[in-house]
Amino acid sequence: MIFHAFLIKYAEIAIKGKNRYLFEDALVKQMRLALEPVEGDFRVIKEQGRVYVLCPEEYDFDEAVEALQRVFGIVGISPVVIYEDQGFEQMGKDVVSCMKARYPEFSGTFKVYTRRARKSYPINSMEVSASLGRLILDAFPEASVDVHNPQLTLSVEIREKIYVYSETIPGPGGMPVGTNGKAMLLLSGGIDSPVAGYMIAKRGVKIDAVYFHAPPYTSERAKQKVVDLAKLVARYSGPIRLHVVNFTDIQLYIYDQCPHEELTIIMRRYMMRIAEHFAKKCGCLGLITGESIGQVASQTLQSLAATNEVCTLPVYRPVIGFDKQEIVEISRKIDTFETSIQPFEDCCTIFVAKHPVTKPNLNVIHRSETKLEEKIDQLMEEALSTVEVIEIN
Ligand code: ATP
Ligand code: MG
Repeated sequence: MIFHAFLIKYAEIAIKGKNRYLFEDALVKQMRLALEPVEGDFRVIKEQGRVYVLCPEEYDFDEAVEALQRVFGIVGISPVVIYEDQGFEQMGKDVVSCMKARYPEFSGTFKVYTRRARKSYPINSMEVSASLGRLILDAFPEASVDVHNPQLTLSVEIREKIYVYSETIPGPGGMPVGTNGKAMLLLSGGIDSPVAGYMIAKRGVKIDAVYFHAPPYTSERAKQKVVDLAKLVARYSGPIRLHVVNFTDIQLYIYDQCPHEELTIIMRRYMMRIAEHFAKKCGCLGLITGESIGQVASQTLQSLAATNEVCTLPVYRPVIGFDKQEIVEISRKIDTFETSIQPFEDCCTIFVAKHPVTKPNLNVIHRSETKLEEKIDQLMEEALSTVEVIEIN
């Protein structure tokens, strides 16, 4: 069966009152981006409070649906068959043949729901539904009408042409990316941070990212893994500007100057400071991490407080209350898991102490950081000025 269009259903964004058009425009923009890699000339149109995708003559149905299922804001995707308006008698024939093609042996309960978008159409919606219902009953003797709880709802929209659909494929929900500002994701090669980025993007937030590497202690391959993860997240979030920061000298300096059990905390404080610098530069309104309470020593409440202290922007941690298994489930769903578990070293793990502090005392940390006074400003300056920016599409 060939579908000529998709009718896009969106819920949350429809309630936004006067701002509704902004949300619809963002949705349309993200849909166009998502459909770009799918072969064929798809046209996304917004018309009388509805968003449609008009499909080319030939296209890969599954590929198009999968692309749309990654666009936040979409609640449902209904494949539509479009007929020319050649009078009501022909409409009846078309609707019955559409039913025959899709549900050859239909014997359940149904109703016809008609929406007359073209108000000048001579027959009103109730009459259209009733007449089409009778024709379907004639064609499918085992079927029966149930207007309250039908197994199948056949929707007919009378526009310039006649649109017929009966199914809704679920979308990802959420809000269109770009409707809730922008935030900076600290993206490592692990399982948690790509999931964190996905979750914040789902709320309509555009994301940029920063990755800290430590060559030659971390390899080119470890960096490539992060680029690959960013590409996978970008399938949902749209383009990401990835900042790759060389963190080696800062790490080595902290390693030389500070107590080793405080290394991770102090290092994470410097990561946050650098991430915040790029966040502000890019117009981001917050930072995003993949931290979850208690997962590792640097994620106790005391450690999180110590990391947080250096930030002036809010830090969003969408997986903070999730168990690892729950995070893994999402990473499988969004297809980042297999990439995340590739075994490449991360800059955090290289200099990690045997017994890192789990309850860092802020006064102690401040005192340790004073030991960095001599060179840290210059090293920060270098790290900031040698950043490599990769545009992920
Ligand atoms: P993940 O699976 O996301 O790597 P994790 O469980 O390994 O998380 P940590 O290594 O403590 O936890 O990192 C906590 C968070 O800090 C990460 O989720 C990520 O947001 C950020 N982060 C850690 N390492 C890096 C890095 N090399 N570059 C950028 N961000 C990082
Ligand atoms: Mg990690």
